[in-house]
Amino acid sequence: MSEPTLYKNLINGQWVESATGRTFENRNPADTREVVGLFQDSDERDVKAAVEAAQRAYAKWRLVPAPKRGEILFKAAQLLVERKEQCARDMTREMGKVLAETRGDVQEAIDMCFFMAGEGRRLYGQTTPSEMPNKFQMSVRQPLGVCGLITPWNFPMAIPSWKILPALLVGNTVVIKPASDTPLSVFNLVQCLLDAGVPDGVVNIVTGSGGSVGEPLMRHPDVKVISFTGSTEVGGRVARVGAEGMKHVSLEMGGKNPMIVMDDANLDLVVEGALWGAFGTSGQRCTATSRLIAHRAVVGELTERLGEQAERLVVGNGLDAATQMGPSINQGQLDTVLEYVRIGKSEGARLVCGGARLSDGALTHGFFHQPTIFTDVKRNMRIAQEEIFGPVLSIIPVESLEEAIDVANDVPYGLSSAIYTRDVNAAFKAMRDLYTGIVYVNAPTIGAEIHLPFGGTKGTGNGHREGGTQVLDVFSEWKSIYVDFSGGLQRAQIDNAE
Ligand code: NAP
Repeated sequence: MSEPTLYKNLINGQWVESATGRTFENRNPADTREVVGLFQDSDERDVKAAVEAAQRAYAKWRLVPAPKRGEILFKAAQLLVERKEQCARDMTREMGKVLAETRGDVQEAIDMCFFMAGEGRRLYGQTTPSEMPNKFQMSVRQPLGVCGLITPWNFPMAIPSWKILPALLVGNTVVIKPASDTPLSVFNLVQCLLDAGVPDGVVNIVTGSGGSVGEPLMRHPDVKVISFTGSTEVGGRVARVGAEGMKHVSLEMGGKNPMIVMDDANLDLVVEGALWGAFGTSGQRCTATSRLIAHRAVVGELTERLGEQAERLVVGNGLDAATQMGPSINQGQLDTVLEYVRIGKSEGARLVCGGARLSDGALTHGFFHQPTIFTDVKRNMRIAQEEIFGPVLSIIPVESLEEAIDVANDVPYGLSSAIYTRDVNAAFKAMRDLYTGIVYVNAPTIGAEIHLPFGGTKGTGNGHREGGTQVLDVFSEWKSIYVDFSGGLQRAQIDNAE
């Protein structure tokens, strides 16, 4: 295999080595013999330099008219369209998911670029009448300054795009710390932004571990916004550090997403949807379908059909056209999956299929696991409550819609949920009563589009949303402006009280 490429940090428009002089390897989880690239193993000195560069660049960038900023994003979208296939292949090599999915990941970043580019000519505020004569008033969005972005490995380009693009469009500058398992996709996205004309210092990349780069980034006093996507455990820490520094903190965290199947559901649709929801991205989506809550009248047939189909899924290297499911991201994640399979068995759930590592032949050097289904799962078992983040589906039998919704809501997370039914009344009750940030009807728990708000309730988030125009609230503050053209002092709430 050829020499791996060396990637450097991006600080003030320059590609620079880390102050530590060290690098780390980004390896292919489907074949760990392949080093995808060498990246800087940075520390707080690099973070400091990047934040200073971003702070300096902010003075000019905030004054670039928003439509102009939008035009740059539009150009970046066009470049990303041209480079889509190469970006997708790079992503499959560093992350493992199949090409169809990595193409989708890049497409999501393209969609976000175009969406935010258009927002450059909107960024709507309000104008309202005043309670006083000869007075005008309006609200406008203003940027905050430097944003610290910390991203996970499962959507290596899409999630960074959800953060970088709205932050820039509003007039902020950014320092991003990509997940150490998947930094290359962030480099590919940012290269498009640079080639499209984003000025020096407006986007900075510092690679390295959560402890040595993420921590100093979120602690830096000049970082005004921290946008984090990742585990609930680390997110809680980000929230506490952010609170101490009085920062804007947006958190997108774990999920334990349920798919409800009622007795009138179209089971062909359910089987197809559940396989995609549970085993797409090897179950490593925050919105993965990890619980199937099925009416007792159909649970037997459904379990049988799902087991048969899951066993037939082709597991392998995501670059191969025949592959339907790739590996887990790393040894730690694979160990977690194996541990939850052990827990499921010990809790008394019945294993329908899978349950073991795959390591024969071409799979020897990767982190592969069989698509796995448990049935007769009880709502309070650990495999029904905790995020596994792997190809494991738990089937929970229920007697009624009310019980199904109750079980669905009975977890510490609230990201996505789904119901399969042909009964419009049941669908509307579920849409009303499922306490999640996203609900699907007759579709699995994955498949969000970028122009609606994305995020979750309870342990999944802290009330913010990415996507949609709602994401602009994370990266801006409102300013209300009153213009009095009466020529005199007019006291609100006093002079017009009669
Ligand atoms: P993670 O371990 O929490 O890591 C996320 C990011 O935080 C990585 O860049 C990581 O750096 C960094 N980090 C780790 N420790 C840190 C610390 N002490 N201070 C600052 N940063 C730190 O999560 P993950 O394993 O990458 O991602 C999987 C999780 O993300 C799952 O729980 C999944 O549900 C969640 N997720 C949620 C959404 C959503 O929108 N709700 C979307 C996707 C994923 P290193 O890579 O260097 O460790």
